[in-house]
Amino acid sequence: MKVSRRGALLAGGLGLGAAAGGGYLAATHDKPEPVSPPSTDAQGHLLWRNWSGVQHAYPAARLAPKDEAELGLAMKTAVAPIRPVGAGHSFTGLASTNGTLLSLDAMSGVIGWEGDAAIVRAGTRLGALGPALAERGRAMANLPDINKQSLAGALGTATHGTGATLQAMHGDVTGLRLVTSEGRVIDCDAGREPEIFQAARVSLGALGVITQVRLRTTANRRLERHVWVESFEDSLAQAEARWAKHRNFEFYAVPFTGLAANISHDETDKPALARGPDQDSAFLDALKGLRNLLGFATPLRKAAAHALLSSAEPETAIDEGWKLLSTERPVRFNEMEFHLPADVQLKALAEVVATIEKHRPDVFFPIEVRRIAPDDAWLSPFQGEPRGSIAVHSHYKDEFAFLYTLIEPIFRRYGGRPHWGKLHSVQGDQLAALYPRWKDFLKVRAELDPRGRMLNPYLKGLFGV
Ligand SMILES: Cc1cc2nc3c(=O)[nH]c(=O)nc-3n(C[C@H](O)[C@H](O)[C@H](O)COP(=O)(O)OP(=O)(O)OC[C@H]3O[C@@H](n4cnc5c(N)ncnc54)[C@H](O)[C@@H]3O)c2cc1C
Repeated sequence: MKVSRRGALLAGGLGLGAAAGGGYLAATHDKPEPVSPPSTDAQGHLLWRNWSGVQHAYPAARLAPKDEAELGLAMKTAVAPIRPVGAGHSFTGLASTNGTLLSLDAMSGVIGWEGDAAIVRAGTRLGALGPALAERGRAMANLPDINKQSLAGALGTATHGTGATLQAMHGDVTGLRLVTSEGRVIDCDAGREPEIFQAARVSLGALGVITQVRLRTTANRRLERHVWVESFEDSLAQAEARWAKHRNFEFYAVPFTGLAANISHDETDKPALARGPDQDSAFLDALKGLRNLLGFATPLRKAAAHALLSSAEPETAIDEGWKLLSTERPVRFNEMEFHLPADVQLKALAEVVATIEKHRPDVFFPIEVRRIAPDDAWLSPFQGEPRGSIAVHSHYKDEFAFLYTLIEPIFRRYGGRPHWGKLHSVQGDQLAALYPRWKDFLKVRAELDPRGRMLNPYLKGLFGV
């Protein structure tokens, strides 16, 4: 999250303050690096880890086919469980396997156009997709916080951005090609194999390997970005009006500060105005410093946060959307995000913040709050109605069991559906109750992968198999 140059100075100042006056406290409160698993297993298989380090496995084989023919052959003979992997940015065990880890890194790029729809190879990273679409004056309508994901990986978990009128990324998928574990190649869209299409738009990589996608695009417009800090109460009071007003709007509630950082993007014809250097790390360092020094005394921590952060100057930047909507997230974390019915989102948020402030003084990461338009993919958390997402983060060195014990019960009480790629413990019948087409998805899955070769233990638990 960026605040402003001044914010960074303040953050830096706080860091210095911590080093000079409270260095001892800061050092003793900072946790050690989590222990790494061994780099090989007993059979000599190399370690695979996800981005945050919370998932790991020792795949017996790693494949990166260069085309569909090679992929089709590999699918028939590969050691199960076969798990497609993108950038490994999911926090859940979706891609973990001691069988075959299958990457489409060698199958990337925009390979054609049907009018304004791009045909994109599924291994394309979002960071490469933006410039490739921009060459033709086109863009994805919306993007997530970062652009490191592969296209298929992002679609696989219903990756989303924010905006009351903007759907998650799979909302722009109008067709796709799938290679199943039996080596069958299926082209599907609303007209051809429509049931498979509705199941495959968000599939958790459980139906087969998606090799290419037809993507609806939009004109590559410049966006004007504003970032400002205000009281959490004001952000809560204004949020609905801002979602109604802005193309993209989100805010970050900062626990133990009484503050929130707001971010809006709107289309503009104004000339580009450069964005300053990314200050996410400095801002988080400041919040960590406050936690380390004053975590024992919430009123003091709040007062210090107000003095340091509430006067941060707003930031403005103007550029093409694909350059502004995704940012770097250099500080590693673990995360839980649920998508709640829009009308209870802010009530649930207030409860989450109050719960953290009552029970978990060690938490310092801001809580991200977004809005997503509905769609009709069977396993889309946004299926049927607009949803409001709330994401709670925990620094990668910090304990995160509280996400399950304190935060998830709140989300579930409000009817939340979990982000498929982020930490949660919802399974089987509980998911069936949240997704009207759950059983239809499982039926299509069993037809496409009759021997269950795509299923790792995590997916078996999720599907109740
Ligand atoms: C720093 C950070 C920021 C994030 N920001 C956001 C955000 O703003 N919004 C949001 O919604 N999420 C966000 N996420 C979550 C992330 O977008 C998802 O977890 C996404 O699925 C990760 O993409 P990936 O390429 O790393 O896929 P992986 O995590 O590697 O895989 C995800 C799923 O896709 C499947 N898959 C991969 N390739 C294929 C294929 N070719 N065919 C079929 N299935 C396939 C996998 O089997 C798996 O089930 C963030 C995560 C991190 C770490």
